[in-house]
Amino acid sequence: MSDKKMPVIMIVDDEPINISILANIFESSYDIKVATSGARCLSLIESGVTPDLILVDIMMPDLSGYEVLELLKADPTTMNIPVIFVSSNDTQADVAKGIKLGASDYITKPVFPAVAIARVSMHLRLKQQSDELRKMALFDQLTNLYNRHYLIEAGTQRLSESYRNNSALALIMLDIDNFKHLNDVHGHDFGDKILQQVSKTISKDCRSIDIVSRYGGEEFFILLPGCSFEEAMSKAESLRVAIEENAMHAIRVTASFGVCAKNDTVETLASLIKRADINLYKAKNNGRNCVFGA
Ligand code: GH3
Ligand code: MG
Ligand code: MG
Repeated sequence: MSDKKMPVIMIVDDEPINISILANIFESSYDIKVATSGARCLSLIESGVTPDLILVDIMMPDLSGYEVLELLKADPTTMNIPVIFVSSNDTQADVAKGIKLGASDYITKPVFPAVAIARVSMHLRLKQQSDELRKMALFDQLTNLYNRHYLIEAGTQRLSESYRNNSALALIMLDIDNFKHLNDVHGHDFGDKILQQVSKTISKDCRSIDIVSRYGGEEFFILLPGCSFEEAMSKAESLRVAIEENAMHAIRVTASFGVCAKNDTVETLASLIKRADINLYKAKNNGRNCVFGA
């Protein structure tokens, strides 16, 4: 058997017979999860089941298929899962309504296996392609950290949330010291390995809500929602030590840090970035391998 994980398809239908018809069609190629109600589908996802595609009946008691679709589309963690309606409601108006609400496709009952298989595999392929594109748009390929584009998009949102909720927010900028020299002496490929290693060290020490990003070259930003200036200063210091202690093949790598926290008077992300950059410049002037915050 191949080690490759089979895509997960969730079948949602209140009639067990309909579930078994669909399960029979797909079980040899996919990992099948079933739910006999819309609420069950949502609670399975909530509990950690991650379907690659959902086949959902429209007419179900309690939550209808349309309502399940609306709830899935309203949640950023599920909005990109393709949903295909499977229903005997096959008037053109029904089909149009489903597609308008964001369904990827519509299969009418009775289900013709060859058609259902072809459509499902096409939507899984499209989903895989769009996931890859999204990943390329948001992540830095060398380090797998978020990229500059994501930092600016998500950071702007987090900053306005923090003004709305009156919560703390801090920003750390770090830049590897004398990286040009490391590249010159040990080669560009080794330089890339240092970037990857430093990225891992930073990520390991950050929370999932922190936005850890490679801004460009050997510059990184960490946006820390909920963190005060003092907390960010101590986080920067612990990262500084972790990077210094993580020698690669006995080659010493260090970084300098600029730290700031959001002002009480509303400021933009660009202004926060600028202040972190000024502070980083001061850390460089203070001799590198140190933290400067203000
Ligand atoms: P400082 O301590 O003042 O930060 O000095 P520095 O040498 O680290 O800074 P400088 O900005 O002079 O040089 C940065 C170097 O980073 C130059 C560039 O060639 C290198 N660099 C940028 N991106 C990459 C990359 O993706 N891979 C590698 N290996 N090197 C990169
Ligand atoms: Mg540098
Ligand atoms: Mg630099």
